[in-house]
Amino acid sequence: MPHPDFEQLKQRSRAIIESALDAFIAIDSEGVVTDWNPQAERTFGWRRAEAVGRRIDDMVIPPQYRDAHRRALRRCVATGEGSLLDKRLEMTALHRNGTEFPIELTILSPMRLEGTLVFSAFARDITDRVQALEALKESEWLYHSLVDNLPIHVIRKDLEGRIVYVNKAVTRLLERPPEEILGKTDYDLFPRELAEKYRSDDRRVAETGEVFEDVEENRSEGNRYFVEVRKTPVRDSRNRIVGTQVIFWDVTQKKLAQEGLARAKEEAELANRAKSDFLANMSHEIRTPMNAVIGIAELLLQTRLDESQREYLAMLRDSGESLMSLINDLLDLSKIEAGKIELENAPFCLRDTIGDTMRLLAFRGADKNLEIACHIAPEVPDSLIGDLGRLRQIVLNLVGNAIKFTEEGEVVLDVGLEERRDDRVVLGFSVSDTGIGIPLDKLETIFDAFEQADASTTRRYGGTGLGLAISSRLVELMGGRISVRSEVGRGSTFHFTACFELAGEDVSRTRRFSPEEFDDMRVLVVDDNATNRRILEEMLSVRRMRPSVAEGASEALSLLRQAGESDDQFRLIISDVNMPEMDGFTLVETIKRDDALSGIPILLLTSGERPGDKDRCRQLGVDAHLMKPIKQSELLDAMMELLDVGDRPRIPAQPARARAGTGVRPLRILLVEDSVVNQRLATGLLEMQGHTVSVAGNGREAIDALRERPYDLALMDVQMPVMDGLEAARTIRRLEADGRLSNQPSPRLPIVAMTAHALKGDRERCIEAGMDGYIAKPVRIRDLDEEIGRLFEGAPAAETRQPEPESESGRAADLQAALENVQGNRRLLEE
Ligand code: ADP
Repeated sequence: MPHPDFEQLKQRSRAIIESALDAFIAIDSEGVVTDWNPQAERTFGWRRAEAVGRRIDDMVIPPQYRDAHRRALRRCVATGEGSLLDKRLEMTALHRNGTEFPIELTILSPMRLEGTLVFSAFARDITDRVQALEALKESEWLYHSLVDNLPIHVIRKDLEGRIVYVNKAVTRLLERPPEEILGKTDYDLFPRELAEKYRSDDRRVAETGEVFEDVEENRSEGNRYFVEVRKTPVRDSRNRIVGTQVIFWDVTQKKLAQEGLARAKEEAELANRAKSDFLANMSHEIRTPMNAVIGIAELLLQTRLDESQREYLAMLRDSGESLMSLINDLLDLSKIEAGKIELENAPFCLRDTIGDTMRLLAFRGADKNLEIACHIAPEVPDSLIGDLGRLRQIVLNLVGNAIKFTEEGEVVLDVGLEERRDDRVVLGFSVSDTGIGIPLDKLETIFDAFEQADASTTRRYGGTGLGLAISSRLVELMGGRISVRSEVGRGSTFHFTACFELAGEDVSRTRRFSPEEFDDMRVLVVDDNATNRRILEEMLSVRRMRPSVAEGASEALSLLRQAGESDDQFRLIISDVNMPEMDGFTLVETIKRDDALSGIPILLLTSGERPGDKDRCRQLGVDAHLMKPIKQSELLDAMMELLDVGDRPRIPAQPARARAGTGVRPLRILLVEDSVVNQRLATGLLEMQGHTVSVAGNGREAIDALRERPYDLALMDVQMPVMDGLEAARTIRRLEADGRLSNQPSPRLPIVAMTAHALKGDRERCIEAGMDGYIAKPVRIRDLDEEIGRLFEGAPAAETRQPEPESESGRAADLQAALENVQGNRRLLEE
């Protein structure tokens, strides 16, 4: 009879076994199952009733382990103990459904129950744990295979700075195995100074939790090397910072390449600047003697010479001038490239100024029998703000080229409005010609410096290949773009845009002064050139007139006769002079002989005056003649004068200037100039105009001279030793104010500056110093005359002239005019 306590104990242990979370299995010494709890049923798939009485190894031991299991059991039975007993071990078990799975087995000591030996064990399915471990191992492997094969160095440290992990790159770098690195600190591995820096960077990262990035420069055995470093905090599963991780990689090559590039760029910039400075200086140095060469040639040309001497001298002067223009181009280009050019911003009237520029160019085209035309669309505003000088430079270059490369046909400048926004406009300028054209493969490069489409044309046409380079850079500065279209043998069209501001009042002068009488007036335009007909037609229509056009004299005559019959006769005829078949003069003759037509006023258009043209006009009774290309304002002025309408508020484009020599009384001039050559030159030029000249070598001498004798005018060089021109001018103004120059005829002596470098701001500096005028060196007779004429306008002028084209062609015009004055007698003129 069992003890009641024993019975209780048995029940308790039964309950524990039944509810255990592990499978409970008991076997006898033969390996036959004697006990099998519910968890065993779930783990192995055998019901208790099925399991009890069966051999354990047949059920849960995979076949390949069964022998080993039986041997172990026999050993245990024999010895009463064994290696398996009281142990915990992992092994592979078999489920009833045939799958194998890992279990953890806890084997209890064998017990003798009712005479037989019983072996029992708890078994736990550990599939999940094993899988998790495997996944972990796999990810570890992945991580290490990545980190160890990266060309990047990885070090991880704990908060005390002890290294807890390094990848292979680090062991290779330090040439030590990991064991000699792990547990060490930076102080054990690197020089103290570096270790300190590393430590403090680590601390910062650990304290702030922020990422630290840097490029560190180091030296080893005299070589510089650079590493890019990135330090990040390392956190545990609860997000606490437990250390730092640093990754770094070598950027020496990249860094050195960058440094090399920066150095090369700087050197290139320096070289470029040096080149520009050199060019600027050289140009300046060359201009000074060139100045003398041209000036003296000009001076000599005014003296008595035989024909061949005159010819040689003219060649000398012309070569000098083309050299000067080359130097000016070079200087311009170098200034633009060095970024030293600033555009002016001053108001100007587009139509008049562009008209003047085109007129100047027409002189060049005249001996080629080219039609030079200028069309400015009516919607283009006239009052603009911008850099007129630079705009003219571009137009001069493009139209100049067009004339140079065109033998016959026409050269047309067309100006249109491209865009208008608030107070700004973008104008489009196109210059088209009917010349030799440019081959396709050259179109791209002609805007580069020193590029010429065809090297062989250079000798034929001259030029430096700089004009377009300068123009295209200037166009860029004006916020525009330049482009070209061309067809060999047919001609080229250059197009560029430029931005301008609108000047306050945007009323073109011509528009304002268009009188009512012109409304609906019939005008006949006769010109063989279609472009010119179109331009004139537009100029007239815009002023509300009624133009008709004729291609030639005979068409004109028939139009005139028809009009007479229809009682709607033309009130004015505008006719070209140079036309095939019947020229303008002959047309006039025919009209004047015809009683029905002879009363209609005629305006003739000439291109480049030929000796005798004026006489011919006078003889034929031509009422007015104008020079092509026609400026709107001039056409209108001429028409008003001719038809005697409107109140003719003539505002000439520039004030008509008194011509010195003929117009201004002889003056007493004080020439202040240190260069002997220039002294001689200017004295020569001035004396030729009938003035009296005294010379002072610098500002101080000038002031002494003024104290001694009266002068009407001082011409003042700016750069001089002892006292320069600016200081001299200031001193003179001060003395005048104090009444210490009371011996002078005028309370304020007119002072005109002469300077060699016509840089922006020079004029302003001179005016500020108290000067009244300014001329650029080399001093030209024309410039001198103009400036003197301007200052002494009150003086009686023998002759007043229309504003005239400038520079080289100015002389051509003078010569033409002079030739006309002597009825075309060259010999007399030379005398
Ligand atoms: P250049 O002083 O030689 O005229 P540019 O820079 O003004 O220098 O012009 C460069 C080259 O472009 C010229 O030499 C010429 O070959 C070509 N070119 C320019 N304009 C024209 C044009 N209207 N017709 C034909 N060729 C032109």
